[in-house]
Amino acid sequence: MRKIIYGILCLVSMFCVVKVSATCSYSNSYNAVDGGGNIHYDGNSNYNAVFNYALGKWNDRGHVNIAEDTIFTEQDLEYYDDWAVNEPWGGAYAWVNPGIDYIIINTWKFAYLTTDERQMVMLHEWGHALSLAHSTTGNVMFRYITDQDTLGSQDISTYNCLWS
Ligand SMILES: [Zn+2]
Repeated sequence: MRKIIYGILCLVSMFCVVKVSATCSYSNSYNAVDGGGNIHYDGNSNYNAVFNYALGKWNDRGHVNIAEDTIFTEQDLEYYDDWAVNEPWGGAYAWVNPGIDYIIINTWKFAYLTTDERQMVMLHEWGHALSLAHSTTGNVMFRYITDQDTLGSQDISTYNCLWS
């Protein structure tokens, strides 16, 4: 079973999944977090720095541990670049069960974005990997690309509701 969230411009995607949990507002029921509260990731991108910036901001929240996969851990998530010409989405998160979830970076779209916008897209996709759904303007989980490169108040309260 597979669900793909085309992170940005989800409205126009037939794969768009919007589901609100009964317990936490703006949350989805699926994520990349393993039973131990970790996301072990591996992969490569032309935008490794942006990818790492975004996971660092989420790690700073302190509950889910996002760390690189090692020989001692089981991989939960893979990330890679795609060159999706004329596609409106900057990034995508796919939930795969059973299996390894992934985050895709659309390098065609990224070429048109500023650093702040790229950081917003990666914060957004990591938010999906952490079970956050689309929320309101002023948050990285807003469905459209903005230059917001830090977490908003709804981002943080949904994360805390889910994981603290
Ligand atoms: Zn999204």
